[in-house]
Amino acid sequence: MTNGQHADLTVIVAKTAPKLGSKGISLFLVDTLWPGFNKGKNLDKLGLHASDTSELFFTDLKVPINSLLGEEGAGFAYLMQELPRERLIIAALAIGASEGMLNWTLDYVTQRKAFKQTLGQFQNTRFKLAELKTSLEINRAFVDQCIERLKENDLDVATAAMAKLSTTEMQGQVADACLQMFGGYGYMMEYPIARAFADARVQRIYGGTSEIMKEIIARSMLGK
Ligand SMILES: Cc1cc2nc3c(=O)[nH]c(=O)nc-3n(C[C@H](O)[C@H](O)[C@H](O)COP(=O)(O)OP(=O)(O)OC[C@H]3O[C@@H](n4cnc5c(N)ncnc54)[C@H](O)[C@@H]3O)c2cc1C
Repeated sequence: MTNGQHADLTVIVAKTAPKLGSKGISLFLVDTLWPGFNKGKNLDKLGLHASDTSELFFTDLKVPINSLLGEEGAGFAYLMQELPRERLIIAALAIGASEGMLNWTLDYVTQRKAFKQTLGQFQNTRFKLAELKTSLEINRAFVDQCIERLKENDLDVATAAMAKLSTTEMQGQVADACLQMFGGYGYMMEYPIARAFADARVQRIYGGTSEIMKEIIARSMLGK
């Protein structure tokens, strides 16, 4: 769980009526100091080292009835309602991270010289940067549109999935192409592009993987 080490108050999803499937799930506000709540390891990740990702264990954890969040049995519906917002946050992060990577790369290719030219004078560099910038601006326009729809309470699950899928796949492409333009330095952790490359990878996994985003979008078109 993200922030598992730092958290002092958590929202726990529990099966309160297992036979009812998705209608038998409830949410509880749980204090991490309550007996039976144990924090495990801070997991060693490929990237995102500024954010902890922690194991959490529950052993005979008892929760008072007044810790129920919302209505009993409505937990799954609450989670589903919040998914478009979560996925849009990930999409916005992908836009910001991609813009940052492009800016670092623009600085680098205008300074670094090879074969008596700056890297930015090679046609390959120019065309690649032009492609990445175009992709960034198209994705940004779509995310801006989604933010407007979220404000109006009109952002559906499939559209939010499209935003997450498209922006995080783009972020991966930007990270890879920008790192390449840094050459060997791009592989060194002292260069921020290396860290951004490692941090980008999880964006296609958490909040629902790219494959699950495609499944959600396809369902909105074809049904189950
Ligand atoms: C750094 C980090 C932080 C996280 N933080 C949180 C958190 O705070 N809270 C939280 O709840 N979760 C968190 N997660 C969990 C994260 O949301 C899941 O890892 C992610 O949704 C994928 O689920 P999974 O790991 O069970 O993979 P699996 O479901 O086992 O998937 C494995 C592979 O199979 C593919 N796959 C699975 N089902 C299908 C399908 N139906 N069709 C096609 N392909 C499929 C997936 O796309 C993936 O490629 C975090 C994960 C990471 C890495």
